[in-house]
Amino acid sequence: MYVDSHCHIHFPALAKRLPEVLSNMKKNSVSHALVVSISLNDIPDVLKLCEQHDNLYAAVGVHPGRKENKQPDVKTLVEYAKHPKVVAIGETGLDYHHVKGDRDWQFERFRIQIRASRECGKPLIIHAREAADDVIRVLKEEGAGTDAGGYGGIMHCFNETMPIAKAAMEMGFYISFSGVITYPNARELQHVARLIPLNRILIETDAPYLSPQSIRGKQNEPAYVSEVAAQLAKIKGVPVARIARESAQNFFRLFGLTHLLEAEKA
Ligand SMILES: [Zn+2]
Ligand SMILES: [Zn+2]
Repeated sequence: MYVDSHCHIHFPALAKRLPEVLSNMKKNSVSHALVVSISLNDIPDVLKLCEQHDNLYAAVGVHPGRKENKQPDVKTLVEYAKHPKVVAIGETGLDYHHVKGDRDWQFERFRIQIRASRECGKPLIIHAREAADDVIRVLKEEGAGTDAGGYGGIMHCFNETMPIAKAAMEMGFYISFSGVITYPNARELQHVARLIPLNRILIETDAPYLSPQSIRGKQNEPAYVSEVAAQLAKIKGVPVARIARESAQNFFRLFGLTHLLEAEKA
């Protein structure tokens, strides 16, 4: 069984064909997925979806990519985090690729969400684009890591160097690989993936984005997380079943879903 640690199946493109998306997951042995909100506006949609489907979990937060999205506050996020299907805060982080110029609001938005994570006791979903050094620095300054009394989390769609991966793992974060790892030009990233221990690895689609090589150009969906696992298995020289099992266990352990941890072991 595979677990997709990051997707946006509440986006209209996927939500409008949700029954098919869910049945494709089942067909491809994708047992669970984390549905990640990107603005305060879409949190209700994410929660509704996760209430309706046992195997979907929610992350509540505001993406760093769009200034026009309303700034969250700690209290609102902590309130949402009380929902039984919410397991994480995010996605949050820093994005210098999409955002040029004034970045004060981005830092503020990021710090608010780290504080919310510390207050509600739930891990963070981190988005870092051309901003990894600052992401690590702010995570440290705000005590996001398990080494600093925080709750760690996931470096989602990891596309950085080994020193960044190391710094994140030292703070108790997991490294999540997406379809990017299947691209022929992703050699450096594949090299990094080879070095990350199996007990820190997660797999994700970031659907509807980042379709793996075999369906590049088509819409991505959680079913295709198996392609990420297959590529990791090839890179690491281990059976794909082992990638599936270890990454699923990492997911359940991180989010305290211990009943699922036992089921997966059996
Ligand atoms: Zn992201
Ligand atoms: Zn995302």
